Amino acid sequence: MSHPPNYKRVMLKVSGEALMGERDYGLDTGTVRRIAEDVKGVVDLGVEVCLVIGGGNIFRGIAGAAAGMDRAQADYMGMLATVMNALGMQSALEKLGVPTRVQSAIAMQSVCEPYIRRRAIRHMEKGRVVIFAAGTGNPFFTTDTAAALRAAEMQCDALFKGTQVDGVYSADPRKNPQAERYVTLTYLDMLARDLAVMDAAAISLCRENRLPIIVFNIHEQGAFTAVMRGEGKFTTVV
Ligand code: UDP
Repeated sequence: MSHPPNYKRVMLKVSGEALMGERDYGLDTGTVRRIAEDVKGVVDLGVEVCLVIGGGNIFRGIAGAAAGMDRAQADYMGMLATVMNALGMQSALEKLGVPTRVQSAIAMQSVCEPYIRRRAIRHMEKGRVVIFAAGTGNPFFTTDTAAALRAAEMQCDALFKGTQVDGVYSADPRKNPQAERYVTLTYLDMLARDLAVMDAAAISLCRENRLPIIVFNIHEQGAFTAVMRGEGKFTTVV
């Protein structure tokens, strides 16, 4: 018998790269649809869901800066990339019949709502998925930090971080078959061992707000729903 979900409200962070599928740039609609189906699976369990999607499949500020651009300017471009991904995910979710709102940290009234904390909470209470776009709205931050920030603001029970593998490993398991998978870790372990799953600012924010981070494989169909019930493979950071 499967367990009921362990959470009432959750944040899912998906990197932009997770949307690329086999492509090397942009969005693969099949992949976006599959992730949307997993989100729907969790919504159907009665869990309130909000999302933060990265922009690395389109543009990263640090790459722009490395190519000679002003860093802050490049970061704004990166934030705009996340808005495109958010709209793509909104479209996929709505095709599946999941009511969705996009709220952007950079006001863009013609395409989505501005970020308003209390309104976002109300949307979720009504069963709508809220996608937070444009990161924190500030350069020099990442969408991991945006996910931690919005999760804290939304009083989420946990931050789910969908990655390429089924948890946190001592090294990249795709390169090193000896890599050890951790079942649980502390925030301080993550910071001290510099495990490349989330940046330090995001981990610190989760730690200060006692927000558990659950790392799982976003590419495994149904994994998000399974993890929600405490099944399957994942790493919990507390
Ligand atoms: N970004 C930013 N402030 C934020 C969030 C994101 O400036 O609060 C910019 C930054 O340039 C970053 C880009 O948006 O490189 C895309 O976000 P991120 O790299 O976090 O995406 P992911 O790696 O998750 O795809």
